[in-house]
Amino acid sequence: MAGQAKNIRPLVAGNWKMNGVKASAAEVEAVKRALSEAKPAIPADVMIAPPAPLISAFSTVAAGSDIAIAGQDCHPKVSGAHTGDVSAEMLKDAGAEAVIVGHSERRSDHGESSAVVNAKASAAHRAGLTAIVCIGETRGERDAGLTIKVAGRQLKDSLPQSSTAANTVVAYEPVWAIGTGLVPSTADVAEVHAAIRADLINRFGDEGAAMRILYGGSVKPDNARELLAIANVNGALVGGASLKASDFLAIVRAYQRG
Ligand code: PEP
Repeated sequence: MAGQAKNIRPLVAGNWKMNGVKASAAEVEAVKRALSEAKPAIPADVMIAPPAPLISAFSTVAAGSDIAIAGQDCHPKVSGAHTGDVSAEMLKDAGAEAVIVGHSERRSDHGESSAVVNAKASAAHRAGLTAIVCIGETRGERDAGLTIKVAGRQLKDSLPQSSTAANTVVAYEPVWAIGTGLVPSTADVAEVHAAIRADLINRFGDEGAAMRILYGGSVKPDNARELLAIANVNGALVGGASLKASDFLAIVRAYQRG
């Protein structure tokens, strides 16, 4: 696939948002089973980000498989008087290997600025987690022709200097495409991802050239193949369609050879 740049192993990550209970581990079991039975093996990394209370249980289920478990947010600090928050170190201790930071729902529901997102990504790096850093424009910004400017600004301000290809993944998620069934055109996705790649190379050199850039926003089984084949699209961040193993696997299978 064109989107599968040489040397960049794609990542398909599922963001469960505020969904799921302990019994939902059956979906992780189903993904695990399907991945282990896939022949040839699907050349993509797979990740599931459940709500924090499920990280430990899901990590136990995913152990010994190719599924990594991730958090959906973390506090910048290690510990302290921050009621309701969870630190990157706590996520790591519970079995997570990564954490999503700066998702548009965090930016809008909790007023998170890119400076806060930057501190959270730094915390992820400090704890030994991969930071999945989300950026993306609103509908109004796109209509005003500001997409590249907004994405570029968020990228610059949200990524800490400690970012490398191993510890950071960028997720481009147009806010207006999340959970709406709307998807930008192939050309629009290609344009934004190319601009992100150029910015990453400019700032991080070879590390920026190798950093994964995911597309997120209404990725479904029926559009995954087309979206994931776009140049500089190194995988997907999937919301709604990641909750059911069958839909999630159908997206992961976009990378299946043949
Ligand atoms: C998301 O939550 O990151 C997302 C992309 O959601 P959806 O796939 O449901 O649009």
